[in-house]
Amino acid sequence: EGMTISELAKRTGQPISYLQYILVNVGEKIDSEFEPVSIDIAELVAMEVGVNVRRLHSNEGAELQPRPPVVTVMGHVDHGKTSLLDALRQTSVAAKEAGGITQHLGAFVVEMPSGASITFLDTPGHAAFSAMRARGAAVTDIVVLVVAADDGVMPQTLEAMAHAKAANVPIVVAINKCDKPAAEPERVKIQLGSEGLPLEEMGGDVQVVEVSAVTKSGLDKLEEALLLQAELMELKARVDGSAQAYVVEARLDRGRGPLATAIVKAGTLVSGQHVVVGAEWGRIRAIRNMVGKAMDMARPSMPIEIEGLKGLPMAGDDIIVVESEERARILSSGRKKKSERDRLRKIDEGRIETLEESQSESEESEEVPKKPKRVELPIIVKADVQGTVQAVTDALRSLNSAQVLVNIVHVGVGPISQSDVDLAQACGACIVGFSIPKPSSSITLSATRANIKIKMHRVIYHLLEDLGNFIVEKAPGTF
Ligand code: GDP
Repeated sequence: EGMTISELAKRTGQPISYLQYILVNVGEKIDSEFEPVSIDIAELVAMEVGVNVRRLHSNEGAELQPRPPVVTVMGHVDHGKTSLLDALRQTSVAAKEAGGITQHLGAFVVEMPSGASITFLDTPGHAAFSAMRARGAAVTDIVVLVVAADDGVMPQTLEAMAHAKAANVPIVVAINKCDKPAAEPERVKIQLGSEGLPLEEMGGDVQVVEVSAVTKSGLDKLEEALLLQAELMELKARVDGSAQAYVVEARLDRGRGPLATAIVKAGTLVSGQHVVVGAEWGRIRAIRNMVGKAMDMARPSMPIEIEGLKGLPMAGDDIIVVESEERARILSSGRKKKSERDRLRKIDEGRIETLEESQSESEESEEVPKKPKRVELPIIVKADVQGTVQAVTDALRSLNSAQVLVNIVHVGVGPISQSDVDLAQACGACIVGFSIPKPSSSITLSATRANIKIKMHRVIYHLLEDLGNFIVEKAPGTF
């Protein structure tokens, strides 16, 4: 399979002669525009001309099999995310077999007596989740929202809800610390309900489980709830054929070089294959499972560690299998160039471009001619008190028009946090701070790095004027 130059020209909207020029530059000789080039080369050329072609792994005709869910644990600090993950890890059969010792992989699998299993990402918190999403990696199927029964809903609980909602990932609530005398799970449920989470016992579809990471009570119920949620989602993946996988974590080992923890999304990853990982490449020298056992291959939802990459990839990078070292090199160098160009362009044009990109990169973007679309403006609002938050969001919504859709992704009381920046990055939002102190220099720096606009105001009129200008830049002719 592959694609001819003329097909590629149609897809990318570029002249054939220009594509041929690029092909020569990457060392590919093509005699005829009707001669197919490999899918790697097609992707490389597309990247060179700035078109984001998702590699189309054909699932057509392929047999789909159920796959385990991949779960991320989120929630407020100190509500017990780490403890819960530790407790869950200990329930895994592999951990028991290995005397409780698993290597830290960034993910682990819990096998149930029924034979079903659940994959947990072992990095609690919102930053990892956002970082992955920002790189386009939809790895998480379900979010476990941990809320301490003695503390209730806190700011990061709401943030976690916003993250999950923005990513369209269903939540299962784990009310933790139910062993404590001060535990008030019923109160927590009411709080969650009033924050708009449709709990099952209130007629919604969000399951709630009461647990204790310390006494380990309720863990089996939590696992059951996750499997039930997974069943409802009918998670399936193609098992045969070349793998599509994502990096969850990466580290440099003195002896073994770059190591990446990965989760296969579809297909089977086989030791010895040539891969491109984000902008890096390599040949898989070894695949290990969570107890460090060498494996020949890895199947969907299985967390593994791979060895043999030439450089260190990032969390959220995709892993694709290519047929030769040469292809791997070509693709990797093309991607490196592209990411450098993107970086420069973003600095050049600011966040506006990226907002639009995040829209046009959505599924059906590839060849359909551009219709004038309603420009979506995702916004995160932080303000000093709840009343102000409401006033600001109402005011912002007044900017809605036939051309502009103000989408308030998250609101909160208090200063702008790193988690706000992460969320903004994940959904291409700008952050509005109203009547709150300037963010710290580290927050400002990370927002600048991520190209996120932060708009600080104390007067609604000025805020609206500022955003009006912002919209005019983004969607000329709107006002
Ligand atoms: P994280 O910040 O959300 O990862 O929270 P940790 O897992 O670090 O837990 C914070 C504190 O709460 C620690 O002192 C834990 O020992 C304690 N803790 C966590 N889960 C439970 C629980 O189920 N019951 C009780 N009593 N304490 C817990």
